[in-house]
Amino acid sequence: MADYTKTEKFQLHVPNLEELCEVLEKGLRKCFEDASVCVAECPDLTKEPFQFPVEGLCGKPRITDVGGVPYLIPLVHLDKVYNMNTVSKELELPGAFILGAGAVSSKTVGMNAELMPLVLTQTEGKPAINASYFSSVNPVDGKCLQEKYSDRFHDYDFGLLANLYACEGKPGKVIKVRAGRRTGEESLVSCMRKTMEEHYGDKTLALGGTFVIQKGKAKIHIMPREFSSCPLNSNEEVNNWLKHFEVSAPLICQSVMVSRDPGLDLRLEHTHGFSHHGEGGHYYIDTTPDTVEYLGYFLPAEFIYRIDRPVQTHTVGRD
Ligand code: ZN
Repeated sequence: MADYTKTEKFQLHVPNLEELCEVLEKGLRKCFEDASVCVAECPDLTKEPFQFPVEGLCGKPRITDVGGVPYLIPLVHLDKVYNMNTVSKELELPGAFILGAGAVSSKTVGMNAELMPLVLTQTEGKPAINASYFSSVNPVDGKCLQEKYSDRFHDYDFGLLANLYACEGKPGKVIKVRAGRRTGEESLVSCMRKTMEEHYGDKTLALGGTFVIQKGKAKIHIMPREFSSCPLNSNEEVNNWLKHFEVSAPLICQSVMVSRDPGLDLRLEHTHGFSHHGEGGHYYIDTTPDTVEYLGYFLPAEFIYRIDRPVQTHTVGRD
């Protein structure tokens, strides 16, 4: 069963936004020919291309790492089902807007699939809104099949693992990141994360937010509909099990990244993206470095909550 009784809370380092912009811009310039980072007003996220159920990323920002890869591999733990409304209470923010990267509850969906959570959780007198997407491998043609969660299902459950950013969904100041023409080997997210790790050392900070791949293509994976019946014991076995795709911009990606693990057995970065043309999944990196353009909005989280941390852990499959 999902265990909410042992949630751990950790206070994160929250740098001055202007300072963080300077640090990130310097780091991104090592990976991208064009890079600029500044403090800006969060755009209205209810508008295109986002269509989120809230206006902004602001108000009591926090992140959570729920469950983990050890519940997926070597063999699946089918009893690990979580609920966004319960999670928002665990985060001491009922009614939170939650975005990020996770897996669907196979009990609800009837198969395994990637989840792109976008949920306004319930609070007194206000019902929840589920604007999430999910992606599976189409059994007909083996291609990516992205669907709107609420077109098919009416719960707020997810399964196994998720990396989530939660906030009040208010407008306000955020960090605006522009990057284009990639010259380094790292993805946008890895470049930002490693830049923070390098600069802030043993202080742990975390960012959550959304970015749009405006031009180019990206490499993603989608988990197969069936869980592996034989144990997956290495990164190579996991990669052979996953289905990889190249998908096109514009992709709207939701990301959570942590500069370093303060000892909570975290996944340090996790990004899922959706599109309005039927493609979406787990983002690795763009495949068109010469033409790629990113535009993102992020905010440093104040706290991290570690929910239902696996007792038996390993480091396989955390890319
Ligand atoms: Zn993922």
